[in-house]
Amino acid sequence: MKRVLVVGAGIHGLVTAAREHLANNQVFILEKRKKIGGRGTSENSFGHQLEHGPHLLLKGGALHNMVKKVSKVKPSLRPLRPHKVMIVGHGMLQPINSPKQMLAFKLGQDPIRDDAVRLISGWGQDIPSRRKALLKGKLCVVGEGWSGLIGRLASTLEEVGVPIQTGMNIVDRYEGGVITSKGVKIEADEVKMCDGSPVGEPVKVSTLDVVLDNQPLKGLHGLVKGEVAIIDLAAIHSRKAPGMSHLSCISLSGGLESIEELLDERLSGWRSHIVTKRENKSITLTDSRGQLSDGII
Ligand SMILES: Cc1cc2nc3c(=O)[nH]c(=O)nc-3n(C[C@H](O)[C@H](O)[C@H](O)COP(=O)(O)OP(=O)(O)OC[C@H]3O[C@@H](n4cnc5c(N)ncnc54)[C@H](O)[C@@H]3O)c2cc1C
Repeated sequence: MKRVLVVGAGIHGLVTAAREHLANNQVFILEKRKKIGGRGTSENSFGHQLEHGPHLLLKGGALHNMVKKVSKVKPSLRPLRPHKVMIVGHGMLQPINSPKQMLAFKLGQDPIRDDAVRLISGWGQDIPSRRKALLKGKLCVVGEGWSGLIGRLASTLEEVGVPIQTGMNIVDRYEGGVITSKGVKIEADEVKMCDGSPVGEPVKVSTLDVVLDNQPLKGLHGLVKGEVAIIDLAAIHSRKAPGMSHLSCISLSGGLESIEELLDERLSGWRSHIVTKRENKSITLTDSRGQLSDGII
């Protein structure tokens, strides 16, 4: 039995700890913040869980399978339907009512739809498994949110006795362990760094999560224009803000301004319906390897 130290209690750290525990190692996790979850944390505001931008779970992917393995109750998933996503000025993402457009799309002769598929399936990254999943209705909104998945993993680790200590900032490593910002040495046979640092160049995006007390998208699952996507989580999963909209928006390069511009253009008056919101001017989506966690973690 090895003593394995996992640095970071984001989704990667929690999954790594679960795997090490299953491999019969003695595991413990150190997290620098007070709260676990990393980019998967949510903020409870006026009764709504606001996250860091839209997250769609790959149904049948590695993360989904791990969560199913450790939980008694399966997470509630609802698929984003590509024929309910509107590309501004171009029609639906999957034009099922237009055989001509559908053919052009399938033959790869529709670059605007191709870009929109890349935007929604991988938030701009080319990820063939997620592209395929989107078109088959297997990219899903999780009823309890991404942070719900974090909660399930964390409580399972607690049940099996894997300790998670927060407020521990690891600043250095030495052969045989790590050193905290307070200069304390912590020994381990093996250290797994799951601190969210990108391996390649970071890919940054901007996000806005906003709950509105009305439904201006009228049942559409999403709206796309250029490099901006607006996903209505409440239209996809009834557990999210029933009777309202929960718009989770992402912009690849135009900043928060481009998200607000699209909202102003298509959902005029949205500002006077805001219940609550959370924004990130710049957050790391992934790195230049272009992977998201749920299929590979
Ligand atoms: C807008 C957006 C949409 C996304 N959509 C999806 C999606 O649909 N599907 C998907 O799979 N992924 C998606 N992602 C990516 C996903 O959020 C990340 O891949 C995942 O959360 C990263 O988890 P992580 O554990 O690697 O890193 P993080 O979540 O960043 O966690 C790292 C943890 O390590 C801690 N830490 C850092 N340094 C130290 C230190 N020195 N000492 C101790 N602790 C430390 C941090 O505090 C943090 O808690 C999306 C990301 C964004 C921004």
